[in-house]
Amino acid sequence: MPDSTAVDIASLDTPGLAAALEALGQPAYRTRQLVAWLYARLAPDFEAMTDLPAALREALSEYCTLTHPTLVETQRSADGTRKYAWRFADGTVVESVGIPTGDRLTVCFSTQAGCVMGCTFCATGRGGFVRNLHPGEMAWQVTLVGRDFGMRASNAVAMGQGEPFLNYEATLGGLRLMRSKDGLGIGARHLTISTSGVIPGIERLSTEPEQFTLAVSLHSAVQATRDRLMPGTRRWPLVALRDTLIDYTQRTGRRPTLEFALIAGENDTPAEVTALADFAGGWMCHVNLIPVNPVPGTGAARPTDVRVAEVAALLTRRGIETSVRVERGTDIDAACGQLTQRHRTGSG
Ligand code: SF4
Repeated sequence: MPDSTAVDIASLDTPGLAAALEALGQPAYRTRQLVAWLYARLAPDFEAMTDLPAALREALSEYCTLTHPTLVETQRSADGTRKYAWRFADGTVVESVGIPTGDRLTVCFSTQAGCVMGCTFCATGRGGFVRNLHPGEMAWQVTLVGRDFGMRASNAVAMGQGEPFLNYEATLGGLRLMRSKDGLGIGARHLTISTSGVIPGIERLSTEPEQFTLAVSLHSAVQATRDRLMPGTRRWPLVALRDTLIDYTQRTGRRPTLEFALIAGENDTPAEVTALADFAGGWMCHVNLIPVNPVPGTGAARPTDVRVAEVAALLTRRGIETSVRVERGTDIDAACGQLTQRHRTGSG
């Protein structure tokens, strides 16, 4: 039985696991074995890790806890998308989404339970903040969704609940468990961090050795509109955000995506689209237009397909690489901004 000071194994990133094993007098290669058991093979407990010495399994059982998240609910969309609610050992509930496309599977995972950013179009933002997730809790979401689909996740996106850069260390730790060949084996370029525009996080990511992909939720390039839609981003103004992103591209040689949820009459007006073109023009980025999904209570309306095509054409004429995202899972509230905190009290 673990003692009361036992460490939650999911709270440890790879260096943390290595340090714990070293403290137990183990050689370095045991870390790889442990990562594989925890995140690729989903061992239910330490006893099941049969290629670890019995004394080590016993020590791990004594000093650490290992509790997989339990499935609270699965919802299946007509388009194949599935949304999951998971409950962790402390009762916290988060959601993830599995999006199959041919032989690929993208998993959108949560980095926090709830969110402090308060974006007005987002159901999570309206639910308040609960806690940061651990690296292992992020990796488990991706493994478990893959297992439900009977395939390995090919891509993972930190675009579920939470602002990943407000939980920077754990998010990077989670991505590294996903990237590890012993863990989920997903290539760094297939691992995306989606931020609302937290400048210190973008700066820090530009110094990391891995080629993780960066996406920024922009949603308006007019300061007053963005302040209203995304009040939590006010301390990182657009002018500074653009400069930071340009620095990021110069340091890393990588092209970030600007996510832009188009809301009729809000940010699809000529002035808004011109501001977007000015923001995105002249540097290496990609604009992803997302006609907004209806979220009950927000009043946000979806622009017509004609208007979406006009906006895309205008950006393209300005030389900006642009795409329109095909929405998935709208019928089960699994689309961007629709993940909620309605399970967090455990009321189901
Ligand atoms: S859109 Fe993202 S950053 Fe904004 S409130 Fe929702 S989860 Fe938080």
